[in-house]
Amino acid sequence: MISVREGQAHILARVAAPVAPEVLPVTRALGRVLAEDVQAPFDVPPADNSAVDGYAVASADIPADGTRDLEVIGDLAAGALFEAPLRPGQALRIMTGAPMPGGADTVYPQEAVERAGARVRVGPIDKGVNVRFRGEDVEAGGIVIEHGSVLRPQEIGLITSLGLWQVSVHRRPRVALLSTGDEVAEPGTPRRPGQIYDANRFTLRGSIEQAGGDVLDLGIVPDVREELLARLREAAAMADVVVSSGGVSVGVFDLVKDVLGEIGTVDFWQVAMQPGRPLAFGRLGETTFFGLPGNPVASLLTFMLFVRPALWKLAGRRRLHPPSWQAQTVEPLRKRTGRREFKRGVLAFADGAWTVRTTGPQGSGILSSMVAGNCLIVLEEERGDVAAGEMVTVEPFVEAF
Ligand code: AMP
Ligand code: MG
Repeated sequence: MISVREGQAHILARVAAPVAPEVLPVTRALGRVLAEDVQAPFDVPPADNSAVDGYAVASADIPADGTRDLEVIGDLAAGALFEAPLRPGQALRIMTGAPMPGGADTVYPQEAVERAGARVRVGPIDKGVNVRFRGEDVEAGGIVIEHGSVLRPQEIGLITSLGLWQVSVHRRPRVALLSTGDEVAEPGTPRRPGQIYDANRFTLRGSIEQAGGDVLDLGIVPDVREELLARLREAAAMADVVVSSGGVSVGVFDLVKDVLGEIGTVDFWQVAMQPGRPLAFGRLGETTFFGLPGNPVASLLTFMLFVRPALWKLAGRRRLHPPSWQAQTVEPLRKRTGRREFKRGVLAFADGAWTVRTTGPQGSGILSSMVAGNCLIVLEEERGDVAAGEMVTVEPFVEAF
C-alpha cells in the first residue's frame, strides 16, 4: 500500500520534460502553456499620456490658490501627436490616451475647469496627476509573462498590446483513452440486458481536454485478451499518454494487468485512499500509462489526483496542483485512519466563513455526487471521525486557475 503523496511524487518524477513547443498565432493559443518568457519589445505605455479627457498644463502654471486663466492652443485626440511644446500660460485640450505634449506634466479633468472660448480657468491641483507614465506598466526588455503560464484571455491581450501576434507554446499532450469491460455499452446505441452505459470515457475525455490534452478516443474494449492487447499497442504507438478505466482490480476478467506485462512495465498499486484504491501506472514503450479504476467516482478522482498533475507537467505548466484551503464542516464525517478519504462537498461562503457539507451518499459508483458537488473534502491519513464544526481541507473543482 502506498500513500497518495507517494504515488503523486513517483508519477511526477517519471513524467518526462514537457512536450515540444510550437509557434501559434495568438488567436489559437487560448489555454495553451507558454514555452518561452514573453518580453516587452518597448516600454508600455510607449509615451507619457493622459489618463483623462481634460487639459494638459505645465505644473509651473498651476495656481497655488485662487484661479488662473490659460490659453487653449489646440485639441489633441488619442492617436494624434502635438509637436510644439507648451509655452507658459498655455493649456492643450487632450483626450484619454493621447501623448502628453512637451512641457506638460499635469492634466486637469475637463469637469475641474471652466472653459470660455479659447481660454480655460483652472484652480489648484496636485502636480503630475492624471498622467500615465512611459513604462509604468512594463519596461522594455522586462518579462511580461513567464514560461509555464497558461494563456487566459488577459495574457493574450497583454501579448497583443506589445504588437506581437504569435507565441511559442507547448503542443497539447496526446492522450489515448479507452474503456474496458464487456458490460460497458456505447451511449446512443441500444444496450443488452446487464450492460451499463459508458460514463468514464466521457468524464475522462472532458477532464483531459480541460487539462490541456488532445483526446484520441479508442472506444470500448471488451474483456478479451487479444483485443485488449491490440488496442493498447495501438494506443501506445500514437499517444504521449494512455488512459484506460476498468479492469485493474482483482476480478476474473481483469486482464489489463496481464496484458500490460507483455507490452510494457506497469506497476499495480494499492493506494491508501477512498474511493479509488487500485491504480496501474507505468510505461508502454515511450508512452506513459494510467490504468484507472472502473467505478465512475473513483476513475474521475484518480484522474484528478494522479493523471492531471502529469498532464499539466507534460503540457509545460509551472503549477501542478490546484489550490486548497480550510473550511468548517457543518456535519460530522465518518473517517477511517490510515488512508486519505475524499468526499464530495458543497462549499459555501457565508457570514465571513467558508463552510462545507457533503453531497449525501458517497459510494464510489455514485457519479451524481460529483455533479452535486463543487469541491472535494480531503480527510488526511491521520484523521479519524470528524465532528461537526471542525475544520477540514477543501479543494474546489477547477477547470483552470
Ligand atoms: P472494474 O474495475 O472493471 O471491475 O469495474 C468496477 C465497476 O465500475 C463495475 O461496476 C463496472 O461496471 C464499472 N465500470 C467500469 N467501466 C465503466 C465505465 N466506462 N463507465 C461506467 N462504469 C464503469
Ligand atoms: Mg471491468
